[in-house]
Amino acid sequence: MHNIIFDPIFYLAYNIAMFQSKLFTKTRKEAPKDEVSKNAQLLIRGGFIHKEVAGVYTMLPLGLNVIKKIENIIRQEMNAVNGIEMRTTVLQNKDIWEASNRWDDESVADIWFKVQLKNGGELGLSFTNEEAYANMLKQYINSYRDLPIYPYDFKNIFRNEIRSKSGIMRGREFYWKALYSFSRDEDEHNIFYEKMKTAYQNIFNAVGIGDTTYITLASGGSFSQYSHEFQSITDAGEDTIYLDESSGVAVNKEIYNDEVINQLGLDKGKLVEKRAIEVGNIFSLGTRFSEPFNLTYKDENGEEKLVIMGSYGIGLSRLMGTIVELSSDERGIIWPESVAPFKVHLLSFGKNEEARALYDSLTASGVEVLYDDREVNPGEKLADSDLIGIPYRVVVSEKSITAGGVEIKRRNSLDSDIVSIGEVLGRIK
Ligand code: ATP
Ligand code: MG
Repeated sequence: MHNIIFDPIFYLAYNIAMFQSKLFTKTRKEAPKDEVSKNAQLLIRGGFIHKEVAGVYTMLPLGLNVIKKIENIIRQEMNAVNGIEMRTTVLQNKDIWEASNRWDDESVADIWFKVQLKNGGELGLSFTNEEAYANMLKQYINSYRDLPIYPYDFKNIFRNEIRSKSGIMRGREFYWKALYSFSRDEDEHNIFYEKMKTAYQNIFNAVGIGDTTYITLASGGSFSQYSHEFQSITDAGEDTIYLDESSGVAVNKEIYNDEVINQLGLDKGKLVEKRAIEVGNIFSLGTRFSEPFNLTYKDENGEEKLVIMGSYGIGLSRLMGTIVELSSDERGIIWPESVAPFKVHLLSFGKNEEARALYDSLTASGVEVLYDDREVNPGEKLADSDLIGIPYRVVVSEKSITAGGVEIKRRNSLDSDIVSIGEVLGRIK
């Protein structure tokens, strides 16, 4: 039994309160042997994800809750910079990829999933969206009055990645957000690009990894000298960056050389090498895609001009994996409150009547509760609770009732307190 509550702000349903006896997923003592990354091990053991095959994971109810929380944080920031949400197709048109010369481009085609049509021809499984947007928007952009616009998607992306040892940080199917900017000129583009830097910082702060995530200069392609990656420092990362810890400036190893260091005014002696994972990136595309699709607009003088584009990605599933890499202990995950699958883990040690009353009053106040009403011993419930990593644990037992109420403990602290039932709400808000 669980309630699906309609979220009036974002029109999104998720599993907002749940009886654990009805949650079909189970925790596991061991992760699959071939799973080497900490994020996949903990997420599989906790019942957040199910491994389909290497690099391909199903989001189970607990995992989906986390993804929805991350999605809402990102959506809020994208809407705040005038992003407009939509959904592009997963099956992609070969012709438009040929128009941009990327259908057979080694660097892309290499890891592209392509499918044959029964009646001849080929389609690609969603790899990225520049072509799709540029081609589609040709139909809707005519005049300078139609610009700027900032459409974005949340969707599944498919890549035939060769490395797949990083759990959900590198999937062959993964969930991302991508926004594309369509601006009238470089100045308009640059202003928006800077806004997106701030929006991204807000997102990484909100999901609890702001302290360890650095804007990192990376190669920019042909239209701008640099692109910007958001790199989170973790040994589980696949990238190497050079970081100046005092100023927070970082450079990806890919472009790290004396010329770049001098140009940026960095002191080589102060740069430290770090392993990191790219949780997002922002890119100035110039006319790289507007040109092949002849995506133009008429300016105030009736002159035809090419639209200036930018792209802005975040891997939500990678972000979820990164949060786990950065926030766990030997007993399990420690979710930051903003992305936790539930706010409260309510455990009944043979006191289901009292616990059920507390569950009802918390959910009536809009608190997200996972209620462990199962017929299993307290030790198992406590171990599962630490593994799953919900921010507040509330235990109702004979002992707690005798002591005056329930035992409340934060996942990231060793101390617990006995509080009266009436005080619980005040303690977690
Ligand atoms: P990487 O260098 O790690 O392969 P990328 O440069 O290919 O990343 P983009 O194509 O720009 O990444 O995709 C945008 C975002 O999508 C990345 O910043 C990252 O957060 C995420 N992402 C990319 N590839 C994967 C993947 N295989 N699994 C999960 N997330 C991914
Ligand atoms: Mg890649």
